[in-house]
Amino acid sequence: MKVDHYAVLGNPVAHSRSPFIHAAFARQTGQSVAYGRIECAMDGFAAAVQAFAAAGGRGCNVTVPFKFEAPLLARHCSDRARLAAAANVLRFDAEGWYADNTDGAGLVHDIEEGAGVKLAGQRVLLVGAGGAGAGVLGPLLQAAPAEVVVANRSLPRAQALVQSHAALAAAQDVRLLASDLVAPGVAFDVMLNATASSLQGHAAPVSAAVLRPGTLAVDLMYGPAAEPFLAWARGHGAVARDGLGMLVEQAAEAFALWRGVHPQTAPVLQVLRAEIAAGR
Ligand code: NAP
Repeated sequence: MKVDHYAVLGNPVAHSRSPFIHAAFARQTGQSVAYGRIECAMDGFAAAVQAFAAAGGRGCNVTVPFKFEAPLLARHCSDRARLAAAANVLRFDAEGWYADNTDGAGLVHDIEEGAGVKLAGQRVLLVGAGGAGAGVLGPLLQAAPAEVVVANRSLPRAQALVQSHAALAAAQDVRLLASDLVAPGVAFDVMLNATASSLQGHAAPVSAAVLRPGTLAVDLMYGPAAEPFLAWARGHGAVARDGLGMLVEQAAEAFALWRGVHPQTAPVLQVLRAEIAAGR
């Protein structure tokens, strides 16, 4: 049987759980898919994608730090990838490559279905305005919270994101504000850590005043690196959640885009959690 090849491209990618997740989706749906990892030189992303496509690849995921470069390689972009100016999925269509961004849909699905917290009417703090922050802001606004504050270490980056999403926020009747990390506001209903601070061993990039008892606090990171954030959030009365659910959900959206079938995510998330808990 012919096998269709996909891969995740980034730097670094050795840690990526995407091959495990897509192999599980392929088994579950009976699709003939192989999925690997390709580590790109920092200036070699475009060449690596083109080489993979020329060798017969059908599409790829894109991770840090190339999400902003990915849409530039595509002829067509989804609305959400265009709004984010960042993509985490490419499909190598014969009539021209297609770029999409499934991070935000994955996060919103995990918050609303996985954590059981409806975003409508909530006050949300999004910390981080890099590739992940850009990718999730549009779908967050689509979920119609009352307020979203985008806080970032570099304030101009948060302001740029707020500006590019102002029309969507107005259409959704969401109060959308930019902030630095010093005073983003207090007692949010939902707090999202979309920074790389956990990767650097920090517990949280903002003060605990952003939390209240029962705040849903999500670190987009997962595995051991997310533990200090999760302990910090629990220690201040929040409900802590890591980024593993989002990872599986965004992968399912990508799989559906490539294969036309949406896999079940809950059993894959369960097995992946057990793998990580066992230190594998
Ligand atoms: P990125 O484009 O490199 O952006 C990094 C972000 O982190 C920027 O906002 C940056 O602020 C901020 N930052 C870095 N170090 C910081 C520190 N010490 N204190 C405060 N802020 C700091 O990376 P990304 O693609 O947005 O990824 C961010 C995180 O999300 C990573 O941990 C990644 O693994 C995770 N992620 C998870 C999923 C998932 O499916 N679970 C999906 C996507 C991303 P400046 O702008 O000021 O530099």
